Amino acid sequence: MLEQIHLLIRLQILDKTLFDLGQEKETIPGRLAALSQAEAACKAELDRNQDELDELLRRRRDLEEITDNIRARLRRTENRLMGAKTQREYQAANAEIDDNKDALKDNDDQLLEVMERQEKLEATVAALKERFAQASAEANEQRAVLDKRYLDLEAETGRLQAKRGEIVGQVEAPLLKEYDFIRQARDGVALSPVSQGICTVCHMGIPPQQYNELQRMDKIMTCPSCRRLIYWADAEEFAGQP
Ligand SMILES: [Zn+2]
Repeated sequence: MLEQIHLLIRLQILDKTLFDLGQEKETIPGRLAALSQAEAACKAELDRNQDELDELLRRRRDLEEITDNIRARLRRTENRLMGAKTQREYQAANAEIDDNKDALKDNDDQLLEVMERQEKLEATVAALKERFAQASAEANEQRAVLDKRYLDLEAETGRLQAKRGEIVGQVEAPLLKEYDFIRQARDGVALSPVSQGICTVCHMGIPPQQYNELQRMDKIMTCPSCRRLIYWADAEEFAGQP
């Protein structure tokens, strides 16, 4: 029985590590997705501002074209004014000039507003481009780290599983079955050392009668509180064991 307990102790160390490696491995796809999400959010903000800037530049070109048209009209009307033959022609041309000047002023105001917004947007877009480039570089770096970690975890898992295979072959079948059943139900921990009468995993006391039985070390017992397999860890045989 002692030999079986020793095997279970070695098995439990391996299984706890395997469980932890598995837990870490499971987090990696989510962490990779979060990286891509953050990157995509940054890109979406950049695109939105770039689209706004493009739209603004179109609006600016339109306004500049309108300016050119009004100026051309103004020149024609000024020519008409100079060549006016009658008072009426003169007044009509003058009124048209005033209208055109008002239109030009209104257009210039709009143009100025557009140019101010353009300046701000260009600064925003430049900052976002820089931020995106940085976020992208960081994400790529972290992706490489996570990809590498995933492969390392797989390799380490494979190595430990091979080692596990060697041990389980020596554990009595019913005991192994019970151990595996508990391990799967209890986050990878099926075996608990009992020290000073306390189950070191669930921290509950073992009743005196059972504790006495446990110290005989002639059978595998279970913790009455957490139902894990227990052994008497204070025995000389386990000195130096974790
Ligand atoms: Zn317990």
